[in-house]
Amino acid sequence: MEGLKRSKIKDLLNGKAGEEVLVKGWVRTKRGNKQLKFIALNDGSTINNIQIVVNAEQFDKDLITAIGTGASIAVKGKLVSSTGSEQLVEVQAEDIELYGACDPMRYPIQKKDTSLEYLRTVAHMRLRTNTFGAILRIRHSMAFAIHKFFNDKGFVYLHTPIITESDAEGAGDMFQVTTMDLSNVPTHKNKIDYSKDFFGKKTSLTVSGQLEGELGATAVGEIYTFGPTFRAENSNTPRHLAEFWMIEPEMAFYDINDNMQLSEEFVKYLVKYALDNCKDDLQFLNDKYDNSLIERLEQVLNTEFVRLSYTEGIEILEKAIAEGHKFEYPVHWGTDLQSEHERYLVETHFGKPVILIDFPKDIKAFYMKLNDDGKTVRGMDILVPKIGEIVGGSEREASLEKLEARITELNMNRKNLEWYIDTRRFGSVPHSGFGLGFERLLLFVTGMSNIRDVIPFPRTPKNAEF
Ligand code: ATP
Ligand code: MN
Repeated sequence: MEGLKRSKIKDLLNGKAGEEVLVKGWVRTKRGNKQLKFIALNDGSTINNIQIVVNAEQFDKDLITAIGTGASIAVKGKLVSSTGSEQLVEVQAEDIELYGACDPMRYPIQKKDTSLEYLRTVAHMRLRTNTFGAILRIRHSMAFAIHKFFNDKGFVYLHTPIITESDAEGAGDMFQVTTMDLSNVPTHKNKIDYSKDFFGKKTSLTVSGQLEGELGATAVGEIYTFGPTFRAENSNTPRHLAEFWMIEPEMAFYDINDNMQLSEEFVKYLVKYALDNCKDDLQFLNDKYDNSLIERLEQVLNTEFVRLSYTEGIEILEKAIAEGHKFEYPVHWGTDLQSEHERYLVETHFGKPVILIDFPKDIKAFYMKLNDDGKTVRGMDILVPKIGEIVGGSEREASLEKLEARITELNMNRKNLEWYIDTRRFGSVPHSGFGLGFERLLLFVTGMSNIRDVIPFPRTPKNAEF
């Protein structure tokens, strides 16, 4: 096999017949008769397989027998135009090397059960399936597009800490980080003595990089974070993970309207990037799991997101209830909307994504800018079909006086927040930002319905394998 460089199947499928090529990958299927075998080979570069045509007489019988589903092989041969298959070209095998056989009786990825529920039980191997290949490639493309979007706009990628003492407004329950011996915790006056812990204080994994993001934005103007986020969410929903990735842009000199505009442009940019660059994978997912996926994505590109105040949203929901629509959770002015309410607004009422704004201050974080009515704050959530909330953001309270008043009102521990308050104390500016859950975006873009299926190694209550 010397002298030839390995070609990726993705490139070969558009190759010219007549070329001498070398391909390496994993066998998806083998079929055929005694003389002629057809191997569908995949190397992960595309959802599409290349067909290898093997004239069995030219090869060792044991070798051909050992090549089954899941086995890894290298094939040297000639690219020829294909007559039978859907593909334009196939490889006429001249030389085959078996890297690793794969016992068909024990291989966990079997044709007979490829349900997503089953695959979660063999999650260490599920990455080898067409479905997860497609998802991993789309996930990569979205990560790349996120950096490209912000880089093209001149934003600075800011790394915020993963271990932190800040609970970022109580965005979620935290995982504590400690090196203390839990069977012998040091105490002082009957309380845990954190001065003996690694950092000399109580620390946890971050639930949001926003507060540190504001330090960055009020220094270099426009920043974004993109990193792992941890929430000890004890809710086993198809939309929550204990470890997920979040993108949090934060922009000085942006008001709530600038913020909404940017977030809408961002979501549309990512959807368009996926449609332009992940066509085959999206088509595969569309055909296999959700046949309205591509249509829905195209629709999102071509509609303007609705801007709706929370108060108007509640009115619509109350009217729906009056007309006989049943929700599991109650809804009235002052309650936080549940996913079913969000989806009613998006799917049933408007038929397009909605940006919900001006929430009651009591259901939102302390740092959101207070409206003139004294009751609502300038928060904004983007709600999309099938999922509900994918973005949560706000214009931040820029007034030192109002921010301090709110901190006092909520009885928050100021001591840990002085560093944050300094942004308002020294050269405060109007500013805004939002958080996009990366896996929520992926649910939306791939059409999958469980968040455990859009991250390679999901962490949820009672589950942290590998
Ligand atoms: P939800 O009400 O859905 O729990 P949230 O209000 O707690 O969301 P934020 O604190 O605003 O969410 O976080 C910003 C974004 O992060 C959300 O819009 C969502 O996309 C994502 N997100 C939040 N919690 C999770 C989670 N546990 N797993 C995955 N993504 C999440
Ligand atoms: Mn939450």
